[in-house]
Amino acid sequence: MQIAVIGAGIAGLACARRLVDDGHAVVVFERSTGPGGRVATRRTEVGGFDHGAQYLTARHPSFVEQVDAWSHDGVIEPWPVETHGLAAIAGTASARAPSTGRTLRWVGVPGMSAIGRRMADGLDVRYDASIVRIDAVSAWQGGAPRWSLQRRDSDSDVLAVTEGLFDAVVAAVPAGSARLFIGDASGIGRKAAEAHLEPCWALLIGFAEPIAADLAKVGDAAFVDGGRLAWIARESSKPERRPGERWTVHAQSAWSLEHLDDDPEDVKSKLLRAFHDATGTAEQPVYAALHRWRYALARKSLSSDFLWDDERRVGACGDWCRGYRVEDAWLSGVALATAIASSG
Ligand SMILES: Cc1cc2nc3c(=O)[nH]c(=O)nc-3n(C[C@H](O)[C@H](O)[C@H](O)COP(=O)(O)OP(=O)(O)OC[C@H]3O[C@@H](n4cnc5c(N)ncnc54)[C@H](O)[C@@H]3O)c2cc1C
Repeated sequence: MQIAVIGAGIAGLACARRLVDDGHAVVVFERSTGPGGRVATRRTEVGGFDHGAQYLTARHPSFVEQVDAWSHDGVIEPWPVETHGLAAIAGTASARAPSTGRTLRWVGVPGMSAIGRRMADGLDVRYDASIVRIDAVSAWQGGAPRWSLQRRDSDSDVLAVTEGLFDAVVAAVPAGSARLFIGDASGIGRKAAEAHLEPCWALLIGFAEPIAADLAKVGDAAFVDGGRLAWIARESSKPERRPGERWTVHAQSAWSLEHLDDDPEDVKSKLLRAFHDATGTAEQPVYAALHRWRYALARKSLSSDFLWDDERRVGACGDWCRGYRVEDAWLSGVALATAIASSG
């Protein structure tokens, strides 16, 4: 079959790879300029920041196998970090003890984006191709329709029909966008509407010198209780990173939602103040940038691994189908590809 996959995140790439291995002709359409989706690294003049997923963990045997293969090939390495717990205002509550004996955390090297790059290797991925709609072209003699896709390129507002017709379409995008493609009227469209992803503002800060925080309490990574922040991590504590004092700071979902459309400069200074409050430092960064993840974490996911309409040959996969982690995205993509292959 000729299959279009919309989205080159972990779910889309895992699905595409399995479909290609099963002998299908697959084209992946990705609206941004690189693969990986929320598993991302931003390169800056002060060094890289993993501004989306911080690390991955593996529990399911088939994902453990995949992680072993990436580790063997040098795509990921363990991040032996002890996470701490911080009060939103330093010293106002006792910090949580560092976590020990948890599931191993893995990070891409030299950045999280290495994972998407590896997964996209050898696949036909069209970047800068934002798909805006899919149309059923014909249902030959009562059979399944074929699909035509319309794309918008970033440098123009003109819509163009992608070349070729597809026998099946996979929407490997966050739930809200998947519904646009699948259509709310269908059973799987209504199912997709049950999933919910929350936003996250990410602040990326770099300092000229090591910061004088109470390192015993902050460590290299910490969950922050209460207030604006959810998580802070020192980038250079991860393996194979450029040295330097760089921190990725994630805001709480509720705070991010409340301030989603605020002036970015305002958000930046509020999050920087929250970082100072939690770490007990006052140093000003020499680099500060923001990233707004509109759909960051799936707080409400479905109980199915994927969605698939066998009559129309359209489906969806992503973390939101089965959970909220990188592992869920990968498993969802693979499970959908397996279902498509067995649907004939
Ligand atoms: C701030 C943050 C922190 C996180 N921390 C962790 C963590 O520590 N550990 C963990 O396991 N998980 C974490 N996650 C979650 C993890 O990143 C996701 O579960 C996983 O990456 C989801 O992959 P996906 O393929 O389902 O979706 P996505 O990564 O969202 O991929 C969807 C892709 O589709 C593309 N796309 C969207 N619309 C279109 C369109 N119309 N046309 C073409 N392309 C389109 C997007 O550009 C994107 O590349 C975090 C996420 C965020 C944002």
